[in-house]
Amino acid sequence: MLKHQRVADLMAKEQALYARTHGRSRALFEQGASHWLYGAPSHWMRRWIGGWPLYVADAPRTYGVRFADVDGNEFVDFCLGDTGGMCGHGHPAVVEALARQARVGSSLMLPTDDAAWVGTELQRRFGLPYWSLTTSASDANRACIRLARMITGRPRVLVFSGAYHGSIEEAHIELDDEGQVRMRNGIHPNAFPHDRLSRVVEFNDLPALEVALRAGDVACVLAEPAMTNYGIIKPQPGFHDELRRLTRETGTLLIIDETHTISSGPGGYTQAHGLKPDMFVLGKAVAGGIPAAVFGVTQATAGRIWEVLPKLPPTARQSAHAGFGGTLAGNALTVAVMRAVLSEVLTDDAFERMDALAQRLERGVADSINRHGLPWQAVRVGARVETLFCVDEPRDARDVRKGRDHALEAALHLYLMNRGVLITPFHNMMLCCPGTTSADVDRHNEVFEAFAAELRQ
Ligand code: PMP
Repeated sequence: MLKHQRVADLMAKEQALYARTHGRSRALFEQGASHWLYGAPSHWMRRWIGGWPLYVADAPRTYGVRFADVDGNEFVDFCLGDTGGMCGHGHPAVVEALARQARVGSSLMLPTDDAAWVGTELQRRFGLPYWSLTTSASDANRACIRLARMITGRPRVLVFSGAYHGSIEEAHIELDDEGQVRMRNGIHPNAFPHDRLSRVVEFNDLPALEVALRAGDVACVLAEPAMTNYGIIKPQPGFHDELRRLTRETGTLLIIDETHTISSGPGGYTQAHGLKPDMFVLGKAVAGGIPAAVFGVTQATAGRIWEVLPKLPPTARQSAHAGFGGTLAGNALTVAVMRAVLSEVLTDDAFERMDALAQRLERGVADSINRHGLPWQAVRVGARVETLFCVDEPRDARDVRKGRDHALEAALHLYLMNRGVLITPFHNMMLCCPGTTSADVDRHNEVFEAFAAELRQ
């Protein structure tokens, strides 16, 4: 057993170090308290350990994953904006596309010729024929849910316990250890009628999934192919085949949300593992960190949508719409950057390199864990690696909860941060990108080794 006192002592030392080395960030944050609802422009920026977020400096830098804060500390970034920055910071092709299109016009409510290239590439890469753009993955998920309800006439959305799909009310629930439904992980209730509009089952629990779907009132299953928002949870062998069979048999649409699992390869987990979703969602990284997402649908799903919202002859003007907004969706700036990202940044070669780097990261973490006899493990989904504080690979959210140790997690995050390594603030997740180098990975692994040595059994 790890000594709680040892973790608490380490945390106190690290907290003092953070305070000594982040004074300017602290002052900026205190100033922010007078005008930002959460002290910083977004509530997510409050998730970092240390008491206040570090403020990024406007310092010259080259493409990659390193940057400095306003106190002059330097960082290697494995958080990458929780995947929004998966192209790396300041990729020349992204910078060039942004500047070029901004000069013409960012948001014109008109397509540009980049649209043809991007549409064709989405078809080729992800294997679905019809696509649409939104401004965020949350928006894309909401659009898919709305379409699924429209074409099935059913009210409910089924999600897996521990999932996160953005600002999706239906998905803000999970199961507790007794199997009772509750709000997910600290989200406040807001009178949304989950009892009528949601269902939730544990990931990998096929019997529970079958019962939930056979009720016949579920419009769609919204799922990450491997869960990445609670601690990485991989699907058990055969899970996806059964999920697809059961959704088909019960007339339920299957939405696969690849916003994070795009780390699996250029075509996401879907292409890497031959999944056959009815709808496919990808956000965050797809436009190099410029707010954007895409969703694609199969030919059959498109046909059902057009039965409800007729497909128009080319010269007709559309009079009604599907009920989702997004004035900025598909704007010229995002389409220009998507073209740059898909053609020059998140390429097949880049994914090969990212995968190799993530394997190096995973090996480093596993070696330190073994060397110091710690009851932890490293889990990987392509370019994404997570350190879990449990010995057995989790099958579902309950297993992840059993291995949770908030004090230890906080100590790890702060220890890494104080030595210039950033990981996702929500749990122990790291992402490699085309700008990550083996020196960046080695930096993480050195610091992780020192942390593991501090806590050796
Ligand atoms: N889907 C998944 C799988 C996600 O992880 C997230 C965000 N973490 C979202 C959707 C929502 O993305 P956004 O906040 O950019 O809308």
